[in-house]
Amino acid sequence: MCQPPAVALSLTVSVLAESESASAALVVPHSPVGHHTDLDALRAWAQHCDVVTFDHEHVPQEVLAALAADGVELHPSPDALVYAQDKLAMRERLTALGLPCPRWTRARTAEEVEAFAAEVGWPLVVKAPRGGYDGKGVQVCREPAEVEPWLSGVGEGGLADGLLLEEAVDFTRELSIMVGRSPSGQAAAWPVVETVQEGGINTEVLAPAPGLDPDLATSLTEGALRIAGELGVTGVMAVEVFEVTRVGPDGGTRAAYLVNELAMRPHNSGHWTIDGSVTSQFEQHLRAVLDLPLGDPSARDAWTASANVLGGDYAELYGTYKHLMARDPGLKIHLYGKGVRPGRKLGHVTVYGGRSGDLHSLEALRERARHAADYLQGVVTE
Ligand code: ADP
Repeated sequence: MCQPPAVALSLTVSVLAESESASAALVVPHSPVGHHTDLDALRAWAQHCDVVTFDHEHVPQEVLAALAADGVELHPSPDALVYAQDKLAMRERLTALGLPCPRWTRARTAEEVEAFAAEVGWPLVVKAPRGGYDGKGVQVCREPAEVEPWLSGVGEGGLADGLLLEEAVDFTRELSIMVGRSPSGQAAAWPVVETVQEGGINTEVLAPAPGLDPDLATSLTEGALRIAGELGVTGVMAVEVFEVTRVGPDGGTRAAYLVNELAMRPHNSGHWTIDGSVTSQFEQHLRAVLDLPLGDPSARDAWTASANVLGGDYAELYGTYKHLMARDPGLKIHLYGKGVRPGRKLGHVTVYGGRSGDLHSLEALRERARHAADYLQGVVTE
């Protein structure tokens, strides 16, 4: 999805693709096939690049170190990327910086699990610090027996350094803030958005997050820019957070945030920016990794609503276009060229407009985006 702004700026993109049918390989002419853990394939490809960047976090640190030693310019650098690859490293660093996180600990034994549970209470959220542990990255555990299978994996793979345990946060909603930062240190933040989740999947993004306390928006924006600066992030980064309610000493309540996780790449919570912002996250990412001056991250209109399209009843989605486009000329439909599988994120639909502060106009936009996504999924047929 970096290709359209790269074309506009006459930049040449090359992708090391996992297969010939990968979405990026379908639109980027120079897309050799190779695996992201294959150092020879990466070296052969990277030697033609001025700058190398990522669309996922799974390139191992030793592979990144070898490329850096070859003189390949990596953005973000391996030293920054580790905080998006390893949730324990991220928790340690953010806590040291004084940024608000859920209460957490590293655990290797049943005794350590019990000690943490005695402090924060059950349930606990158990996480594999590094991704892809048999598809079991996160689990809410209600009792010690549920943590046991995790403990038996400690020392291997994604659990090499132990488990990440967190308190189960009683959050009001999930928010995300995206920032872009260049090697020169210029940084820019988009408005804070609400990410609506259903069954653990992000289904909608509302920009800006409706009804957000302006003080919280400011502290979150400052926090995200600070993380980007302290960690030396280059390119775009999403900071996913929980909004929580805190009771002050006077008994009054205020909204606050706790950081959940970091993603150092264009992110689903920033897809709304393609249509809804003066500078999309993809254009900003290109500008940032090339150390060009950053673009304006302002929203184009009062509200933007984006609904994710998940794989549903149709094997082929083009057949839905005629009805959708005729019904609502304001829709911006984006499909990623992925094969349809139930539940897989295949695209998104964005609508923007409305009057600032008028929640009814947001609801109307949201309904239009939701309807279009449901139609593409076969949930509604008219
Ligand atoms: P992933 O890396 O798979 O995206 P996350 O750490 O973002 O995993 O967790 C996925 C979801 O689980 C979050 O979006 C949130 O809904 C829930 N979750 C994660 N951590 C906590 C927590 N400490 N308390 C409550 N819910 C959590």
